[in-house]
Amino acid sequence: MGAKVRTSFRERSSMSETLYITAQGDRCHARPDCSGITGAHKAAVTLGYEVFEPEEVTLAEAQQRGKGASCPTCSGSA
Ligand SMILES: [Zn+2]
Repeated sequence: MGAKVRTSFRERSSMSETLYITAQGDRCHARPDCSGITGAHKAAVTLGYEVFEPEEVTLAEAQQRGKGASCPTCSGSA
């Protein structure tokens, strides 16, 4: 019996916060319609780059992927 069950895997803070990250961004957003995301998308379209939809993640996931920094545009107004 060597298997260990990680009971803490699904544990979240009481606020089960959903954040949004983008493939190119290095920070997480509180809202998918943040100008930090939509502005970058518009610029990408203008330049002919591929646009990736924002991805829903938890704060822990964002931090694991190196995108744990909060966006000042949509997080600073809270
Ligand atoms: Zn933002």
